Amino acid sequence: MEFLGLDCYMETSNLLQIGGGEISSYKGHMAGGVIFFILLIGGWLYFFNTRFSLENILIMLGIVILFALFPDVDTKSKGQYIFYGMILVGDIFFLAIKEYKIAAIIGFLALLPIVGKHRGWTHTIWAMVAVPLPLIILPYYVLGLDLKASMPYYLAAVSGYFSHLILDRKFF
Ligand SMILES: [Zn+2]
Repeated sequence: MEFLGLDCYMETSNLLQIGGGEISSYKGHMAGGVIFFILLIGGWLYFFNTRFSLENILIMLGIVILFALFPDVDTKSKGQYIFYGMILVGDIFFLAIKEYKIAAIIGFLALLPIVGKHRGWTHTIWAMVAVPLPLIILPYYVLGLDLKASMPYYLAAVSGYFSHLILDRKFF
């Protein structure tokens, strides 16, 4: 089956059901994220007189793709593999430096996606707005960075997330 110029194969773990509104092919979601990223950058350059360095653009592209995969963290998927891998590394790091409270909070947050049903809260508008919030909150509180400076990264995350919800047909 051809979707967004990519071949998507019907497999039990890598399912594409246009009719049922389920696209858990990570390739489809990555492609969707990239399309939304191009729209975001195009729109940004059109409305604001901002210049992005190549480094900025690559970081934003990485963020878009990560967040385009994130919602499927609630089921066995590429997104789950990547995010739980990152959480594991982060948790080991905080345990190693004896930051047990932070390690415990990360462990608690990591439980949340898998206690709900698949396509539950991770596939909602409020999650799309809330899950990427650390991208602006952490640089502000931890590094003292201007909110404006981290806004493009936050918007990149939200647009990646949005592309996932659109492809999963959460709105129509
Ligand atoms: Zn999904």
